Amino acid sequence: MPANILNLSTYEVTHIDENEHDYHVTAAVKALPIACVHCHSTNIRGFGRREQLIRDLPMHGKRVGVYVDTRRYQCQSCNKTFYAPLPDIDEKRKMTKRLVEWIGKQAITRTFTSIADEVGIVEGTVRSIFRDYINALEKTVRFEIPQWMGIDEIHLIKPRCVISNIQNNTIVEILKDRNKPTVTRYLSQLKGLDQVHYVAMDMWKPWEHSKPK
Ligand SMILES: [Zn+2]
Repeated sequence: MPANILNLSTYEVTHIDENEHDYHVTAAVKALPIACVHCHSTNIRGFGRREQLIRDLPMHGKRVGVYVDTRRYQCQSCNKTFYAPLPDIDEKRKMTKRLVEWIGKQAITRTFTSIADEVGIVEGTVRSIFRDYINALEKTVRFEIPQWMGIDEIHLIKPRCVISNIQNNTIVEILKDRNKPTVTRYLSQLKGLDQVHYVAMDMWKPWEHSKPK
């Protein structure tokens, strides 16, 4: 039996293939259902199986595809059928949940195409995951106006402007570039700008517009 290369304790790995670019891992859920998902009767019987390709985190510079062997059951009480639930997997996206989370974070600093190539999915999927990720972040994270605001630039593929809270040492916002119109627009639309007492800037020419001669 191959070692559990996936490091997912809920799955048993039964086979591993690899070539220059890909790992193909065959795995199955360890804990099989003991009751019907519809009526909770324990009188269930095997009713075939299917194999699904699930994408996972790239490993050792290779794309990872997991062929998950999923059993299907028929309930002898209510007659309905169901598939064994897949833990740790986003069944809608056919990806492990950890991959979905990783893509969301990576997409902040990388191009969508580079992530799509690395994982082996289309760019539209990366875009859609990123949108969900940002929406979830905006619901859970409260962006506070810092009293001490830092304005710096960082190079994430291209130079971008970072607004930070100097007292907490946290990032408030990353703007799409460091150009003056972008920074000016951000600051002019910021609610609660009057709460900012101090601004520290990493001086880059376009931001020096207010510097006295
Ligand atoms: Zn049932």
